[in-house]
Amino acid sequence: MSAYEKTDGTAVLAAVEHTLTFLGTGAGGGVPSFFCNCAACLEAAREPQLERTRCSVLITGRKNVLIDAPPDLRRQLLAAGTRRIDGFILTHAHYDHSGGLGDIEFHARIDGIAPIPSYMSRESAVWLQGAFGFMADCLAVHVIETGEEFVLDDMTYTALEVTHSPGTFGLLTKTNHGRAAYIPDTGPLPWATLEAIRGVETLILGASFWGRNRLPEDHLSVEEALSIARDIRPKDFYLTHLSMHYDSPVTNHELESYLAPFGGSFRVARDGLSISI
Ligand SMILES: [Zn+2]
Ligand SMILES: [Zn+2]
Repeated sequence: MSAYEKTDGTAVLAAVEHTLTFLGTGAGGGVPSFFCNCAACLEAAREPQLERTRCSVLITGRKNVLIDAPPDLRRQLLAAGTRRIDGFILTHAHYDHSGGLGDIEFHARIDGIAPIPSYMSRESAVWLQGAFGFMADCLAVHVIETGEEFVLDDMTYTALEVTHSPGTFGLLTKTNHGRAAYIPDTGPLPWATLEAIRGVETLILGASFWGRNRLPEDHLSVEEALSIARDIRPKDFYLTHLSMHYDSPVTNHELESYLAPFGGSFRVARDGLSISI
């Protein structure tokens, strides 16, 4: 982390470095899934470092900003050693991205930090009121439209249009150090989003399916995500929101070998991995 003050002392310009930590990199069922005995689930049961909890990330600069609150949230925050959440962004209300939101209640109330600045679509805010109305006072909700920008902890976020359930967005982040796109749950990307993310240093895409895409309207397969990455040409590309199973399961080792020919900058994210953005 670095910051400097102008010599006249009138203004302080920040040059905070931000880290993105993948708290969870699994799709809805997690890996291993309790109901599955495929090669990928067996591999993750054998090698716990390959386990994939449901999808979320933590952006750390001076503060901690949590993106999504999956049902695994408590375990994820413990694993990452996170003691405090200063901001929250909800990409959408599906259970695998929101089911753990209640875990924040105790932190917000007991540590006296409520209400936590929180950003979400109108659809997500309506859902929140119904599902987590008991903790409405814990979050200061800012409703965000697609294309809108907001600033949290010296980072500018833009909500990106995606093809998923109504009210879902992806995120473009901007700092003095560069731009990154985090789009965990989407089908084919709309033209405006492709244009917005062109030239990003870091691209992170959800790739729920390997082989046949069972939900092609609103999810990407590994192959489809790769084809977007080849078009966008980021410096670094990460796959996340991975189910690893269904029609033809793929183990982590197989997926890494599959990405190898694309060069070291195309990678499979893992739970706990931290990168600079
Ligand atoms: Zn999801
Ligand atoms: Zn979803």
